[in-house]
Amino acid sequence: MKLETRRDLLKSLAALGLMGFMTTAAFAKGTKKQSAYQDSPKNGETCKNCVHFLSKTNECKLVEGSIASEGWCNLYNDGKAK
Ligand code: SF4
Repeated sequence: MKLETRRDLLKSLAALGLMGFMTTAAFAKGTKKQSAYQDSPKNGETCKNCVHFLSKTNECKLVEGSIASEGWCNLYNDGKAK
């Protein structure tokens, strides 16, 4: 099969059942160590005020594992332009 376009490539990956793998790998969460996560706030910044925090489950969209609402990591984003 000759792959001439991005669409051709995606069709081929889908046919091989690799789309799920690619999606999972592309959106895999990082570890707490990678993001320098800590269970305490830093300079008044806390997970509960971060756009990535999922308060219902105490999880984060970017960092794996249980996340403390009073925690912090270097991916903190309060959603405000800086
Ligand atoms: S500060 Fe880090 S660990 Fe906490 S919610 Fe934001 S991205 Fe996730």
